[in-house]
Amino acid sequence: MHDGAAADPRFRFPDSVSLKTGTIVRVRGGYHGTVTKGGRLACEVVADFTERPDEMLTAAKALRVGVASAEIVGIPEQESETDSAREGQPLRRWALYRERNKPPRDRKIRAVQEEGDPLRCEVCSFGFTAAYGELGDGYAEVHHSLPLHISGVTWTLLPDLALLCANCRRRCHRSFRGESWRRPDDLREQMQKLGQRAIHQAASTSAS
Ligand SMILES: [Zn+2]
Repeated sequence: MHDGAAADPRFRFPDSVSLKTGTIVRVRGGYHGTVTKGGRLACEVVADFTERPDEMLTAAKALRVGVASAEIVGIPEQESETDSAREGQPLRRWALYRERNKPPRDRKIRAVQEEGDPLRCEVCSFGFTAAYGELGDGYAEVHHSLPLHISGVTWTLLPDLALLCANCRRRCHRSFRGESWRRPDDLREQMQKLGQRAIHQAASTSAS
């Protein structure tokens, strides 16, 4: 069920999950069984879930998106009057952690390299190594073709990702004429149309 995760020493085994569940039940009250020694953090978490369920749900959803995608797509604004930054803290920490652990990103780049292809922007064909030499080697921005705020919680597969230059990635995210985002494929098509128009214009100018 958990693949290789159980080999990780930080992995929670069924006994510790059961222990934690017992703590949660006890802290929530109405429990009359054996009292376990619950942690202070468990009390705080249970209080948060009990007192502010909507905020906790929002934070949990954002974390799940982050886990599934290896990216945090924005820390939800908290409207609570009390301690508004609190849910943001774990999300920010998680974002930092994921910054240093980017498996889908690395796998996407590695997959292209293993094909023997140079890394290029999938929209404008900008060649990173051709332009920057060694500085450009093995680095490209990795972009979700369908933005995570549209797809919601999802497992990211390599075909869902596109390698882009920073310029094209910004254009994919730019709000423009009522559209808040566009797919790299659509942007590439737009650029190709513009390029063809430019070629036609240049040809007609030189002919006249
Ligand atoms: Zn580009």
